[in-house]
Amino acid sequence: MSMLLFSGFKPEKKRDNPFFTEFKTPFQVPPFDKIDTTDYMPAFMEGIKQQNAEIEAIVNNSATPDFTNTILAFDKSGKLLTRVSKVFYNLNEAETNKQLQLIARQLSPVVSKHNDDIALNEKLFMRIKAVYDRRKVMNMDDQQLRVVEKYFRDFERQGANLSPEKKDQLRKLNEELSMLALTFGENLLAETNENFKLVISDKNNLDGLPQGVVDGAAETAKEKGMAGKWVFTLSKPSMIPFLQYAKNRDLREQIYRGYFMRGNNGNKNDNKETVAKIVKLRLEKARLLGFESYAAYVVDDNMAKTPAKVNDFLAKLWTAALPVAEKELAEMQKIIDREGGKFKLQSWDWWYYSEIIHKEKYSLDESELKPYFSLSNVREGMFLVANRLYGITFTKRTDLPVFQKDVETFEVKEANGSHLGILYLDYYPRDGKRGGAWCTDFQAAGWENGKKVYPVMSVTCNATKPTADTPSLLSWDETTTLFHEFGHALHGLFTEGKYTRTAGNVPQDYVEMPSQFNENWAGEPEVLKAYAKNYKTGEPIPDKLIGKIQNSALFNQGFETVEYLAASILDMDYHGLTTPADVDVLKFENDAMNKIGLIPEILPRYRTTYFAHIFGGGYAAGYYVYIWAAVLDADAFNAFKSTGDIFNKELAAKFRKYCLAESGDDEGMVQYRKFRGQDPSVDPLLKRRGLK
Ligand SMILES: [Zn+2]
Repeated sequence: MSMLLFSGFKPEKKRDNPFFTEFKTPFQVPPFDKIDTTDYMPAFMEGIKQQNAEIEAIVNNSATPDFTNTILAFDKSGKLLTRVSKVFYNLNEAETNKQLQLIARQLSPVVSKHNDDIALNEKLFMRIKAVYDRRKVMNMDDQQLRVVEKYFRDFERQGANLSPEKKDQLRKLNEELSMLALTFGENLLAETNENFKLVISDKNNLDGLPQGVVDGAAETAKEKGMAGKWVFTLSKPSMIPFLQYAKNRDLREQIYRGYFMRGNNGNKNDNKETVAKIVKLRLEKARLLGFESYAAYVVDDNMAKTPAKVNDFLAKLWTAALPVAEKELAEMQKIIDREGGKFKLQSWDWWYYSEIIHKEKYSLDESELKPYFSLSNVREGMFLVANRLYGITFTKRTDLPVFQKDVETFEVKEANGSHLGILYLDYYPRDGKRGGAWCTDFQAAGWENGKKVYPVMSVTCNATKPTADTPSLLSWDETTTLFHEFGHALHGLFTEGKYTRTAGNVPQDYVEMPSQFNENWAGEPEVLKAYAKNYKTGEPIPDKLIGKIQNSALFNQGFETVEYLAASILDMDYHGLTTPADVDVLKFENDAMNKIGLIPEILPRYRTTYFAHIFGGGYAAGYYVYIWAAVLDADAFNAFKSTGDIFNKELAAKFRKYCLAESGDDEGMVQYRKFRGQDPSVDPLLKRRGLK
């Protein structure tokens, strides 16, 4: 392993490692053009060394522990490590390759050990505890008090109070768990991007597909060295239109099977055993830390506080949503019977027949909408909304280094022209990019030596690619996804606060509120008029189509809510286990779904073996947070609506201040109440989804 670590350092070719100093680029964005793969490992090693030295200095300080010499010093430690981590882990998601994957595997135990070395450092904890114990008499302001309390709690939650023997056990568990998460992600990437494709050589099998979809599949075929054929992959922009429009039912089944069998094919990328191990080890970890389940451990830190509260919340929504989905199913079965189909609708038919309903009942054809949603128009639309709410502006930059040629960069400025931050936008699927959409930062907003550090945010999507003849035309789902991720970016851009631990740091069931909140504007008529313009003629979207979008807001909401809730409940079930066992994951999933009465025509949005949120990422016992946050976002938007002005400046300023800029200053619900002046109500959400 160590052989590869420093192989980039050849004495004859002395070059500076760009991570070792502050970036010398405009706005201190990462110098992607100067970073070599061989720079990462040495930077991680040096970063760890530096942070260890910083912590040694805190621990060996002979002065009595106080806020500045202990809490603040710790809060500011690890700068180099943060700098390299942000670049490396962002690229390993968005632009990975075998080399980066190898480094990630080598790093996993090293970083896991380093984090544990800090979390389980007894002397450091004793100093933090000393400050914590005397916090009320130490003359600290509210924010300092909060930082002290947060750190104290972090250490407790990470095992600082455990015996040395149990600490060792915990270290081993953390190390194994981080490696298993990587394995899960790598398997899933291979199962999504490599192990399956639907190759069509007979033109008749394209029946029903809109021209744009056919063109896209031809391009994909060309890229994969199969010019003249048509290739569909398991990335959503490729698969979903196929499921929506392809008349060939067998092929629909083939591609959907490809999708829902990912990680469950008994090949070398099978995830079943990995999941069973993760579930088992997480429970062990939770018990070690004094919790009865992993869910109890996770949710303890959230707004919800207990798994029982989450389960209760999900069960209520489930009861409201399942009958709506069953009604949708019955309607579609009628169409099949009417057409003399003589078969029962299966899960791979849902998109096809719901698209027919979309057309018949709402007379809305997704391909009729698409010309109005070119990616550049949607982007301008979301910029416009932010401008009208908060006064901020966006200027495209062409002088900043990017990590991939299609990535665009923008400078974000306050209404008065002062700098606010940088935004990277990365739009299209690639082989080295995982599925989904997400928002991260290369640099979080903060303070350094009394000066503001400006954020560098990054939004990554997997949107429909342009073809030779048409620009990227987004589906409605892709449009709202872009608004969503941009909402996260705004949270990051507006974040204020002096301390790393608290600035912009919100509980997991708050995180999705700012993003979902921002989605609300995408479908408002006056907003649509401004951005949804035909990419050929420049004509704004006609009122008739806007009316249809509004009418179809309730379309398929039973299905969407049910598939989402099913996945959330599956997540809570896995992590709610209280007795260690070797779980047979297929049986477990089956039992969990039978228990709630999920109909076989709907699969959970993520089945076990490709549930990356909870087994590859950080959403374990936390997939529920989207709908928890949806209660907040629907209620918050309702506040704007009820003033009769969706651009109400006074409310926008309040939202920016309490819910975004100062979001980490107090508990999530407290911040929300400061904005809203009252508790959130669940009614706006139920109404929005037609569940009430
Ligand atoms: Zn999100």
